[in-house]
Amino acid sequence: MLKIENLHAEIDGKEILKGLSLEVDAGEVHAIMGPNGAGKSTLAYVLGGRPGYEVTQGSVTFDGEDLMDMEPHERAAAGMFLGFQYPVEIPGVSNVQFLREALNSQRKARGQEPLTGGEFLKLAKEKAGLLKLDMEMLKRNVNVGFSGGEKKRNEMVQMGILDPAFAVLDETDSGLDIDALKVVGEGINAIMRKPDKAVLLITHYQRLLDYVQPDFVHILSAGRIVKTGGADLAKKLEDEGYDEVMAA
Ligand code: ADP
Ligand code: MG
Ligand code: MG
Repeated sequence: MLKIENLHAEIDGKEILKGLSLEVDAGEVHAIMGPNGAGKSTLAYVLGGRPGYEVTQGSVTFDGEDLMDMEPHERAAAGMFLGFQYPVEIPGVSNVQFLREALNSQRKARGQEPLTGGEFLKLAKEKAGLLKLDMEMLKRNVNVGFSGGEKKRNEMVQMGILDPAFAVLDETDSGLDIDALKVVGEGINAIMRKPDKAVLLITHYQRLLDYVQPDFVHILSAGRIVKTGGADLAKKLEDEGYDEVMAA
């Protein structure tokens, strides 16, 4: 589904990703872990097509198409979703407006009919229920005045509504208390743990992986994947720390 080969990327002339290769197939959850500054968020931004990130070498294909050739909205229409470490606030636009617009523009790009207001609200209610987010929150302006945990749950509601084939989730667990962590973890499973979908779960800590069991765990360090293993690798990291595991 996603194939990254020898990816090099830089910001402001500074090389951050230095030959990263990774292959993700449908039905798989891959966790990317790594110390601060390793390049985890940079990888998420490059996959999302954020301006300012320049790919200098290597390739990324998504369902066989050159991802780097696609605009961010084309990536979304092709089924890619990005969840960010710091979700943006959009004053003046309600969640419901924002999401209906996003969903319908993706449907249009795929040649599907737009959802009516009623159809959309039914879908939104279902997904908000899954994430235990009050519908009232969806009527408020996007993320404005939301707590850290509410922003993350709201983002997972967005994911549920957009129903992507591939999700890149950057530190979705940061700032969540234990109860919210469980809700978000179970939400990710309910929305994305399907044979035709895949997830790249970027996380600094093992705890989210107690809920969303990864098929593969990769350690990213200094812009490269330096080690790959199964779910046990994440536990080992938690017990022994990055330095020890990477040195072994
Ligand atoms: P991680 O998510 O693994 O903590 P990041 O991808 O955020 O790491 O950052 C990787 C490296 O890129 C860090 O050394 C960081 O300082 C650097 N970096 C991030 N953004 C910029 C930028 N806009 N300009 C220069 N360096 C940056
Ligand atoms: Mg960081
Ligand atoms: Mg980061």
